[in-house]
Amino acid sequence: PQLANQIAAGEVVERPASVVKELLENSLDSGADRVDLDIEQGGVKLIRLRDNGGGIDKADLPLALSRHATSKIGMLEDLEAVGSLGFRGEALASISSVSRLTLTSRPPEQESAWAVSAQGREMLAEIIPAAHPVGTTVEVRDLFFNTPARRKFLKTEKTEFRHLEEVVKRLALSCYRVGFSLRHNGKVVHQLRAADSETAREQRLSQLLGKAFVAESVALDVQAEASGLRLWGWMGLPTFSRAQPDQQYFFVNGRVIRDKVVTHAVRQAYQDVLYHGRHPAYVLYLELDPALVDVNVHPTKHEVRFRESRLVHDFIFRTLYRVIADMRP
Ligand code: ADP
Ligand code: MG
Repeated sequence: PQLANQIAAGEVVERPASVVKELLENSLDSGADRVDLDIEQGGVKLIRLRDNGGGIDKADLPLALSRHATSKIGMLEDLEAVGSLGFRGEALASISSVSRLTLTSRPPEQESAWAVSAQGREMLAEIIPAAHPVGTTVEVRDLFFNTPARRKFLKTEKTEFRHLEEVVKRLALSCYRVGFSLRHNGKVVHQLRAADSETAREQRLSQLLGKAFVAESVALDVQAEASGLRLWGWMGLPTFSRAQPDQQYFFVNGRVIRDKVVTHAVRQAYQDVLYHGRHPAYVLYLELDPALVDVNVHPTKHEVRFRESRLVHDFIFRTLYRVIADMRP
């Protein structure tokens, strides 16, 4: 029962952006290296995500839409060392309960593709043949069509799309090996090639954060393992930076997080060069043993709890402080 409770913790679908987050995480979990997103009307009318990942077997298609069906977790201990992004087995079920959802998939060993659909809580029982290359497409139409109260809480198309784009940005910054495309109402918003070199990664950064960020940022040297911690990424120098507070990205084991310990360590490192009202821009990646960090603190998974927060704090602070000190005239 405890496992069920932990897994069931929290709602999933708040707005189009939360749908996109869950779908993208599934695609990344499936090993895709190419994901294409088509959005209409801020995601309320249509969210269509196609990936070229491992797909879902015909027999498992209806299962994928049912609650607490996850292929990603066996036992409670697994929650401790969550390697994959999704682990609750309820995203697709929750999304399909408030939309018209079609799941089309073809694993590599299958000759052809199959599709299942659901409308609100009603699952359309039939599995029908479909045309689709290896991989999966999830199509979510008319979000909240059957829950007008929730629909009323949605903001303008522009605002919803901005939230959704932010989700895409974060995942694109955490998965360089994957190519992303994002279209809104037929127009290409982002077209990001898979980035497997330093140059390609910087190109992605400049596409997502602007040329200025890359020009003003110093690439960190990869730090040697200190107590099993590794930090890398880019730091903008606040001397030049006109960055907004939202240009601050900190990833822990590939997930973007917001954390007091981290924020404090970063700010402290910058303190000597921070002018009043300036916000440093940064994209930083901390990697550590998953057993040393609890990512299950909150269902939306933006929060973490470090087992040894003092150690993490000091490591981040010392590493960044040294880089900044080196850069000072
Ligand atoms: P979870 O990701 O927590 O397991 P979801 O409801 O998000 O739960 O997905 C249910 C299951 O459907 C997954 O465990 C996975 O087996 C399958 N699945 C969903 N999306 C994809 C995808 N894009 N590619 C391959 N399998 C998928
Ligand atoms: Mg999932």
